[in-house]
Amino acid sequence: MKNVKGMIKDILTKENLSKEDIVFLLNSTGEDSIALFKKSAEIREKYVGNKVYLRGLIEFSNICSKNCLYCGIRKDNKKVKRYNISDEEIIDAARFAYENNYGSLVLQSGELQGNAFTKRVETLLKKIKKISDNKLGITLSCGEQTEEVFQKWFEAGAHRYLLRIEASNKELYKKLHPDNGLHNWDERYESLNILKKTGYQTGTGVMIGLPFQTVEHLAEDLLFMQESDIDMFGMGPYIEHEETPLYQYKEKLLSLEKRFELTMKMIAVLRLMMKDVNIAATTALQAIDKKGREKIIKLGANVLMPNITPGKYRDDYALYQNKPITDEKAEDYKNFIEAGIKTAGCTIGYGEWGDSLHFLNRKKLDNV
Ligand code: SAH
Ligand code: SF4
Repeated sequence: MKNVKGMIKDILTKENLSKEDIVFLLNSTGEDSIALFKKSAEIREKYVGNKVYLRGLIEFSNICSKNCLYCGIRKDNKKVKRYNISDEEIIDAARFAYENNYGSLVLQSGELQGNAFTKRVETLLKKIKKISDNKLGITLSCGEQTEEVFQKWFEAGAHRYLLRIEASNKELYKKLHPDNGLHNWDERYESLNILKKTGYQTGTGVMIGLPFQTVEHLAEDLLFMQESDIDMFGMGPYIEHEETPLYQYKEKLLSLEKRFELTMKMIAVLRLMMKDVNIAATTALQAIDKKGREKIIKLGANVLMPNITPGKYRDDYALYQNKPITDEKAEDYKNFIEAGIKTAGCTIGYGEWGDSLHFLNRKKLDNV
């Protein structure tokens, strides 16, 4: 049998990783992990270059009709002060992103259905396109919707959509969501397919370090992502929230540091498996390690989502606890991310959409 050093070398040169290989990489420590991170950084550089693209994140409403058992703004959490940012304030934040050359925005909210919500988002999209001379790229992250709604928003100017599958394993998904007909894995998966069909650059992802989740589940998540041919990914550590049902399992969780390390390895392995996709360094990383996002960029992520939600609403969009509340609009914050990205050996793609190469390649294949 090969020594461990030999094994990591072999795995890192493979074109296709098996579930066993992935589990090996996710369990790696010390020098093996360093070799993994070195390899994923090389692949990022070779296939997507060293630019990091910005998407200014606006969390425009925390009103949600769902009850995901892990989420701090779930419908049944009566302690949350609900808000809906006015259109003017959203447009101001969009203007800030445009004037500061962010290139793109993400509009995120709790999940609501119905005409009023559909119309509101549609109007906002059109307004943002107008004030930015059609130049700001817009990603939406407003949960599951019907094909008709996805289509309407696409026509109004959104061209990317983020909808995490949360857990690719159906049994695990069931343990994380109430069994009330509103939280259905197959329907969520179907939404991802509709988004792709509608023409969106489609993003998904999972939480890492959830109760009941094993390394095998995470390896299956990565294989699921590869198989579903998705364009962009946002994965981050699960962070418990006291006012949620899943909090009762907090003693069973890995330490925050271990969840962070596991996230680093998940992102590195994903970069090995899907070389041309966009991968975001998510906000939850920052809650564990101040330099979290920079570390993740160094090893292969190429998208950063600075939070530009107006300061007075920040505390109330608490999906998880210890969410960083830095005013990421401030000038010194800009210097801070620029310095971090430079340390990671990357530069910021100011004013660029930074579309997923995977999406562009997928479209080319569709047209053959
Ligand atoms: N309502 C939309 C978008 C907002 S929630 C939706 O659910 O798709 C955005 C993401 O926050 C979710 O997909 C989930 O992965 C993440 N999230 C929620 N609670 C979290 C927690 N406790 N720890 C880490 N991430 C969490
Ligand atoms: Fe609502 Fe999204 Fe939170 Fe679920 S994860 S409760 S859909 S905001």
